[in-house]
Amino acid sequence: MKEKSNSQEERKFEETGHALSIQQKEGNSRQSFEERTVKTRHALSQKYKADLHIHTLLSPCADLEMTPKNIIKKAKSEGLQIIGITDHNSTKNALLVKNLAEKENIFVLTGAEVTTKEEVHCLAFFEFENQLNEFQEFVDSKITHIPNPDGHFGYQPVIDEKEEIKELVPNYLPAALKSGITEIQIKVESLNGIFIPAHVDRPAFGLFNQLGIIPPGLKFDALGISANNSEKDVRKHYVVENKISIVQNSDSHFINQIGKVYTFFNIEKISFLEIKMALNQQNGRFVSTS
Ligand SMILES: [Zn+2]
Ligand SMILES: [Zn+2]
Repeated sequence: MKEKSNSQEERKFEETGHALSIQQKEGNSRQSFEERTVKTRHALSQKYKADLHIHTLLSPCADLEMTPKNIIKKAKSEGLQIIGITDHNSTKNALLVKNLAEKENIFVLTGAEVTTKEEVHCLAFFEFENQLNEFQEFVDSKITHIPNPDGHFGYQPVIDEKEEIKELVPNYLPAALKSGITEIQIKVESLNGIFIPAHVDRPAFGLFNQLGIIPPGLKFDALGISANNSEKDVRKHYVVENKISIVQNSDSHFINQIGKVYTFFNIEKISFLEIKMALNQQNGRFVSTS
């Protein structure tokens, strides 16, 4: 896979070089063309290691050891520079992870893993707290209420920076929303979020198994794949075009799963916008899987 990503990278640089050489013929000096080529190569040679699908202890199926501190410690030891916090239908521990991770130079995409009406799992990320809160209100208004008495399906604690329990969510979080995938995608888009159908290759809750096809008109930033299959195999099996980016994530529920698989972001610097551009293969940014 590394060979493939390198050749993709080279091709992109060749294309960039070609575009610049045309500009150069149109009037720029040769020196400035070379300078600009070097600059472009340098800018886009930054690769950041990411795992965008990590649950905290808030998810009933996740280990209670999945505290923000433990997640950050493991992410750091795995060399991850970008992580996504994606509890089932809840964003409520994500900001705490983000705040703590900043001190360790790890960028956190804050969001959730949403269960659509069709029982497809999708990752949704937002840049700002107000967007995150608005999305949470949307999810809360649409979720099917299934009681989770005495942590029957697993405890669902929202915690504070001292790792003390602020709230135990009383209803079962992974329950399906009453909204379909397209309605949820439109909501995410209206909040300038990132939308990624998760583990599309998985038999349970994966888009291809649940729906058979990508619904026509559905907009998304990338497709997520599980740790079980390679990008190459998924592209071949489901006929996924190269213009659709694929990210591979661990879907960690236990500490030792974090960073088991990962995705490289080829971007200039880490920011929400740069990550979104890479997923959409814009301005020379792109992603490559492990
Ligand atoms: Zn899932
Ligand atoms: Zn998950």
